[in-house]
Amino acid sequence: MGSRMCGSKCLFICLGLTCIVGCYLALLPIENEKLPSPKPVQTHISSLSQKERLAVIVPFRDRFEELLEFVPHMHDFLNRQGIPFHIFVIQQKDNNRFNRASLINVGFLHTKKDFDYIAMHDVDLLPMNDDLKYTYPAANPVHISSPQTHPNYHYATFIGGILLITREHFELVHGMSNNYWGWGLEDDEFYLRLKDAGLQVERPAGITTGTADTFKHIHDKTYRRRDHRKCYNQREATRRRDRDTGLHDVTHRVVSEHAVTVDGLDATVVTVQLLCDEKRTPWCQCPNTVVKKPEAKAKS
Ligand code: UDP
Ligand code: MN
Repeated sequence: MGSRMCGSKCLFICLGLTCIVGCYLALLPIENEKLPSPKPVQTHISSLSQKERLAVIVPFRDRFEELLEFVPHMHDFLNRQGIPFHIFVIQQKDNNRFNRASLINVGFLHTKKDFDYIAMHDVDLLPMNDDLKYTYPAANPVHISSPQTHPNYHYATFIGGILLITREHFELVHGMSNNYWGWGLEDDEFYLRLKDAGLQVERPAGITTGTADTFKHIHDKTYRRRDHRKCYNQREATRRRDRDTGLHDVTHRVVSEHAVTVDGLDATVVTVQLLCDEKRTPWCQCPNTVVKKPEAKAKS
């Protein structure tokens, strides 16, 4: 009977103790679990995104047919090289003469946040040789369309057509001059900027193709006429190295930005209005040469 008594007493005490300990534990603050700190993730994606990104900047006005060929061609060509890239078509929309260099400046400003290097790229010049590598030009700008292989231009200091340059180098030389309205010389002036900054333009090595088969130049000069006009003091002014203008003063307005696809392949069209200071560069519009109309015959 004594043991029976202890049994129910003990059971009672045990239940009480369990209750007290349970309540105490429930009231304790929750402590963070101590987990091992996460290891840095080394995935394929993170290593891919570390690769330098290329903005293909295409100065553009009224070259729609060429663009339809350019976009699919460049996607094929650059994907074969595994280059992360995006095509930006910088379309000029204003009443001024075409200004390739200012459009490239605008394209640069528009993309520099997200891209490590640019290809300034004519829309009508398609690379046909896979040995032309569009990789990051770390040490020096790389001129892809060298005078040895360009279909038209063969002088040693030519750097037009297609040129790769890092964001840092483009900023170092303050971009391109904004003085070049109409066709020509903006690339030669840019050559002087690179030279003055101590940069030596490199060219692709070991190219076995020549002027006829390294590029396809979709350019019939009677269908796509070059604007060779020279007016006011344009000739003298544009033969000089420009130490004033560049990325900092490319006066413009971005009118619109459109994501487009050609055959399902992405590009972005940035439409830009370039503003001209007529006092500084009056040749942004050449006055029309007056063509005399034959006098109408008097009606009889
Ligand atoms: N361009 C354009 N519209 C024009 C003039 C030029 O889009 O009215 C652009 C286009 O990208 C072209 C580049 O500027 O490929 C160079 O002009 P162009 O082909 O006339 O020069 P080329 O190197 O053939 O002498
Ligand atoms: Mn051309």
